[in-house]
Amino acid sequence: MEQRPPVAPAWDPAKVAGADRELRVRFERFSGALARTAGLEDVDVALGIVAREGRGLVCGSATLACAPDADGMWRGAIADAAGTRSASAALMEAARAGLSGADPGTGAASVVPGAAVVTSQTDPAGGMPCVLAVWFEVEAWTASPTRNEVLDAFTTHAAITLANARIYEAAGAALQHERDVVRQKDDFVAMVSHELRTPLTAILGSVSTLRRLGGPMDEERCVQLLDMADRQGARLTRLIEDLLRVAAAESDIEPSQLAPIDLVAFVSELEPELAEIAAGRLTVASECGDGVVRADVRKLRQILTNLVDNALKYAPDSPIEVVVHDCGGRRALSVVDHGPGIPEADRERVFDRFVQLDQSSTRSTGGTGLGLYLCQQLVRVQHGTLTISTTPGGGSTFTVALPGDHTPSEGNIR
Ligand code: ADP
Repeated sequence: MEQRPPVAPAWDPAKVAGADRELRVRFERFSGALARTAGLEDVDVALGIVAREGRGLVCGSATLACAPDADGMWRGAIADAAGTRSASAALMEAARAGLSGADPGTGAASVVPGAAVVTSQTDPAGGMPCVLAVWFEVEAWTASPTRNEVLDAFTTHAAITLANARIYEAAGAALQHERDVVRQKDDFVAMVSHELRTPLTAILGSVSTLRRLGGPMDEERCVQLLDMADRQGARLTRLIEDLLRVAAAESDIEPSQLAPIDLVAFVSELEPELAEIAAGRLTVASECGDGVVRADVRKLRQILTNLVDNALKYAPDSPIEVVVHDCGGRRALSVVDHGPGIPEADRERVFDRFVQLDQSSTRSTGGTGLGLYLCQQLVRVQHGTLTISTTPGGGSTFTVALPGDHTPSEGNIR
């Protein structure tokens, strides 16, 4: 029988077994990395884990993982033998541009001769951009299509993981905001109840004493109790009016009617009205030629009246000046007094609701602690700022700075 010469197999079993093993190892690493990077809830933590897992997946010396946050700002993490840390903007930019040789150690986009870098990125048009860059030691480097495929697949998975973490973070922030709003509302209701109850208790107390002792009570005591009921009734009315104003300002019931207003003309027009309540203590000055701002005239009037009213109450013997001037490139209106002033430490909280610094003086002056809060709300909806400083020589200066008029037509904002 004819002996056929042995036929050499078309494949080398040793080679196939080697390739098989390599594939299996890659697959095992890949599925492990997938499991460890699933369900992450914090973007920065997720970036660190993705970078670390990416490095282990293809045995690189360092890995960068980066992706944009909800505001489009790129955030990234580097993982190498030293651990995990956040990546510099320069390095992220280099990796995104696919700049091979960018140095992960320095974080700068400098070129390291001979260093190999493999960059993998998802299509930004897909809505979930993510970039993974892996650096290899020069001696450990060999080209490998399967490694690149695994890296690409992992980058796609990382993009989804990071997008989920972003959604989780956004949902967490929204929930926290919701909780804060509910808590603020509860606090406000508690404060309002307390503030309303105080004068009401005084009124009811006076009436009840009058009823009990009405007959034998001397006239002076009787007048005292009636005065007290009167004062507290007036306080209650002021409180309710201020609360309604605050509610209107907060709920934007009246959208701002923004229009060009010349502050110098505005103050001159209001001067007679203010002078009447100021009993000769008020002067008006302008330190700039014109002061055209974009504002709501009714809201501005309310702010100025409130600030002058406060100066009259809390700086009782002082002259008061209303000055139109320049303030850091914006036109501004200041109400200046030479009274006791407001300590630096109280200048922030004085804008909170129901804050009254000197309880004895504010009770006697009929304050509600809502005036400055209301002023700040009204200034804010006009895109302005309200600040307190010390008047040279002592006293308070309240400054309302408003944006200039750059828009020719009138418009409403909410
Ligand atoms: P109020 O209704 O009590 O006047 P505001 O919110 O207007 O409430 O003011 C809060 C507190 O800030 C006042 O109770 C007072 O203690 C202090 N304050 C306001 N304006 C002045 C000022 N011009 N000088 C000194 N203290 C002031």
